[in-house]
Amino acid sequence: LAQRLNHLSAQSVWTEFTPLANQYSAINLGQGFPDFPADKFIIDAASNAVLNHLNQYTRSMGHVRLVNALAAHFSDQFGRHIDPLKEVVVLMGATEALYATIQAIVNPGDEVILIEPFYDSYPVDIVLAGGTPKYVPLRYEGGENSSDFTLNFQELEAAITSKTKAIMINTPQNIPGKVYSRQELEKIAEIVKRHDLLLISDEVYEPMVYDQSTHVKPASLPDMFERTITIGSAGKSFSVTGWKTGWVIAPPHLSEAIWIVHQNVAFTANTPSQEAIAVGFERIKKEDPDYFKNLSKDFQKKRDLLCDRLRSAGLNPIVPQGSYFVLADISRVDEKHYFDEKSGVARDYQFARWLVKEIGVAAIPPSAFYSRDNAHLVENFVRFCFCKKEETIRSAGERLQKLK
Ligand code: PMP
Ligand code: GLN
Repeated sequence: LAQRLNHLSAQSVWTEFTPLANQYSAINLGQGFPDFPADKFIIDAASNAVLNHLNQYTRSMGHVRLVNALAAHFSDQFGRHIDPLKEVVVLMGATEALYATIQAIVNPGDEVILIEPFYDSYPVDIVLAGGTPKYVPLRYEGGENSSDFTLNFQELEAAITSKTKAIMINTPQNIPGKVYSRQELEKIAEIVKRHDLLLISDEVYEPMVYDQSTHVKPASLPDMFERTITIGSAGKSFSVTGWKTGWVIAPPHLSEAIWIVHQNVAFTANTPSQEAIAVGFERIKKEDPDYFKNLSKDFQKKRDLLCDRLRSAGLNPIVPQGSYFVLADISRVDEKHYFDEKSGVARDYQFARWLVKEIGVAAIPPSAFYSRDNAHLVENFVRFCFCKKEETIRSAGERLQKLK
């Protein structure tokens, strides 16, 4: 096998916890996928696409109707006209978008800075390109809100070396649901520009922001469009995670490089889902401009319900300002139930495995989103997801009351 796979494993939190939840018939608040149906308009649009014979390859860089719809939808937020044919690439989910982006910009030996917690495919993508991930953890000193996780800009700057190629951020961040403020993004942008770096901005959860938070696109800040690769996902925006349709918006030279990778990984993302998502964005623009605002309101109700149930079970939540995940503090649960120090297994993993088997609820151990050196920072938390029907959250909440 190729040496670059030496330190990689096919086992991941996803391959462990979804099958485990199924095996124990647990209520699955682990992997983030909705258990409710997508909206009828998007389902109808997909069936119409198939029935109207849009079943062959489409334009490799992105189905024309979709890139037009994405450019029309996002131009205002970028504060500029997005060229649909040169500045948008459609790929098989944000996952391929992240992979293709890293392949397009990272040379062997280059370093890419990741903010912890990071989405778990980021470091693997960097290693597959021959690069090295460098980690900067968010700092948390107590508090009940995702904004209590803060980025220390001195630490960020100290991680930059002559080999640094890019910084990757995720806003809203899976996990803890932090929505980066304009001021925070301006500081990151200033550092990126001063060190002549690229910024990869994973914004798959941008439609889900709560309370007073607003999502700001780093690429909209002065002189940042030229050096930012913005990534989005229809799976999240329209609750169709199985469609695996995502996109990159970036200046032409970066988009073209990412397209070269995509052209040879997949050639094109699948046609019917691209057509359906285009119809979805067109409909929002014409008939339902508050669609994503209302989506956030719906998710906020689910967030509040889950947080309430967690609080009452003694698992204090860090209330997320965005995304559909909550970190919950497990330190009040008596460790004699689940913790075996001698096993050498991280505490959050031991808790999450016990929770599936004994309580019947699946969650994700967040240390999967940390480097080995920093995994201890979240050992007293697990991640629950709330992109679920109210009744699913209520049933899980009931089971969790056994922890009191
Ligand atoms: N980025 C983040 C932060 C995610 O949580 C996910 C989860 N799916 C992805 C990227 C991948 O998105 P997709 O399903 O569109 O590949
Ligand atoms: N992004 C989702 C999560 O964090 C799904 C992960 C995946 O499908 N690999 O739960």
